[in-house]
Amino acid sequence: MKALIVIDYTVDFVNGKLPCGEPAVKIEERIGQLIGQFVADGDWVAMAVDLHDEHDTLHPEHRLFPPHNIRGTDGRQLYGKVDSIYQANRDRIYWMDKTRYSAFCGTDLDLKLSEREVSEIHLCGVCTDICVLHTAVDAYNKGYRTTIHADAVASFNPAGHEWALGHFRNVLGFTVVGGGA
Ligand code: ZN
Repeated sequence: MKALIVIDYTVDFVNGKLPCGEPAVKIEERIGQLIGQFVADGDWVAMAVDLHDEHDTLHPEHRLFPPHNIRGTDGRQLYGKVDSIYQANRDRIYWMDKTRYSAFCGTDLDLKLSEREVSEIHLCGVCTDICVLHTAVDAYNKGYRTTIHADAVASFNPAGHEWALGHFRNVLGFTVVGGGA
C-alpha cells in the first residue's frame, strides 16, 4: 500500500496568519488531484495539520512565528478545494494533529504506516523547506521509500523551495516528480 501525507495545507498557511501566499494557492488543484487519485486507488491518505494553543509560550515556535493554526480557529481548516475533498471523504482520510514541523514527531504516523504495511510514502503540502523538509528527513531516517511531488509543494521562500527539492533528491535520495530540482 502507498500513503499520501498532505502537510499543513490550511487557511493560515496558504493565505492566513502565516501565509506562503501565491505559490501555495497555485498547488490547490494538484493536491486535490493527488488526494482523489489515492482515495480512488484505495491507498491511505493522511492530513498532517499543525496545532497550537494560543498562550503556549513554551512552544519553540512561539519565539519564531506569529500565532497560527490555533486550536478551534478557522485558520486551521484545510484550504479551498482540499477542504471540500476532505469533507466529502472524511471516512477515508485520516486527520492527524501535529505540534512540530515533522509529521512524525509526537504523532502515531509511524504506527499507522506500519499497521498498513505501507511501502512507499508520498509527500505534498507546505512549506517545502520547513514542514515538508522535516517530515522528509524523518521518513529518510525511518527508511521509508519516499516520493516528493514538486508540483504539489510550495514555500514563501523561492530559494528555500529550490534548495529543499535538491536536498530531497541529492541528499535523501528521494524521487522528485512533477518538475523542479
Ligand atoms: Zn506551527
